[in-house]
Amino acid sequence: MEKIKYDLVERKNPVQLPVDLPFGKYFTDHVFEMDYSTGKGWHNPIIKKLENLSLHPGTMYLHYGQGVFDGLKAFKNEEDEVVIFRLKKHIERLNNSSRKICIPEVNPEFVFQAVVELISIERDWIPSKFGESLYIRPFVFGTEPFLGVHPSATYKLIVLLSPVGPYYPEGFKPVRILVQDDYVRAVRKGLGDCKTPANYAASLLAAEVAKKKGFTQVLWLDGVEQKYIEEVGTMNIFIQFKNEIATPKLSGSILPGVTRDSVIHILKDWGMNINERLISIQEVIDEYKKGNVTGVFGTGTAAVISSVGWLNFKGFEMTFNGGNPGELDLKLFKELTSIHYGKMEDRYGWLTHVEKKEIEV
Ligand SMILES: *Cc1c(COP(=O)(O)O)cnc(C)c1O
Repeated sequence: MEKIKYDLVERKNPVQLPVDLPFGKYFTDHVFEMDYSTGKGWHNPIIKKLENLSLHPGTMYLHYGQGVFDGLKAFKNEEDEVVIFRLKKHIERLNNSSRKICIPEVNPEFVFQAVVELISIERDWIPSKFGESLYIRPFVFGTEPFLGVHPSATYKLIVLLSPVGPYYPEGFKPVRILVQDDYVRAVRKGLGDCKTPANYAASLLAAEVAKKKGFTQVLWLDGVEQKYIEEVGTMNIFIQFKNEIATPKLSGSILPGVTRDSVIHILKDWGMNINERLISIQEVIDEYKKGNVTGVFGTGTAAVISSVGWLNFKGFEMTFNGGNPGELDLKLFKELTSIHYGKMEDRYGWLTHVEKKEIEV
């Protein structure tokens, strides 16, 4: 692979971060980009100014949706140290998503280095207050101008960075979730386990309907029988039963969340009985009625841990911990954020440290 080229902007002033950072609205100065074409493979890696793209209206991605993305975070702590959380795992997942959509995989070690390099250049853009971070969005899409369905002959990878505030600015407040059985998100052997735009397009209408009814999100049921719980819009779900914590097993239609994986590691470490298995919505209701469901929470990079206060299925409402955050949810949130912000040893080797780098323009 060639060396990364640099075409950096001159920064006259220190970076001024907005005080109340919303999620996903601000972007840093630079992106990493790389192109693919059949025959040449991945080439032209460059860190350059963030600019609008110029695309041919026939760009295949715009018509046939051949694209994948991922999402991860870098954190800066009080000691001005910068770390990226589980970068290797996220690049692996990007490649797994690509494989299913006929997108050529990237060299994981090369992209790993490119992301570290980009972040060291954009270090000043990383906010350091608790709850704030730098959201990293790598994505790949088919760029061939062609009308007709076949895998694109050319692709672009871009890594875009966005300094973000906490996902829930109002703090750790439990969310209200509608169990959805009028629509399905994905089916087994489909694309549900890929981070590909189609899945999010498929989720919009159901989410809007739920919002109008006063819910924050929807919990999807399996696409075949609408019997087993799968996941929430952008989070995996965990049910805390009296003697067990359970999360839906990766059946092929569920996104294999990296936070999900991290939480499973931690719970096992704590000696808890955590199982990945089929969980029917009826089981949750039956156990709830017996008083055996002590909490429900979601996991995802954006919110880290999200307490679920209410689950509503066909008008039957279940309330957990009186609508307050559960003890375990808070404990997990504290554990993960302590790892993120260097308050606790990185005992799993999840962090990549990013050193300071002087920019030469
Ligand atoms: C990204 C995502 C998740 C969470 O994955 P993380 O790796 O933990 O951020 C869960 N479900 C869906 C549908 C997602 O897109």
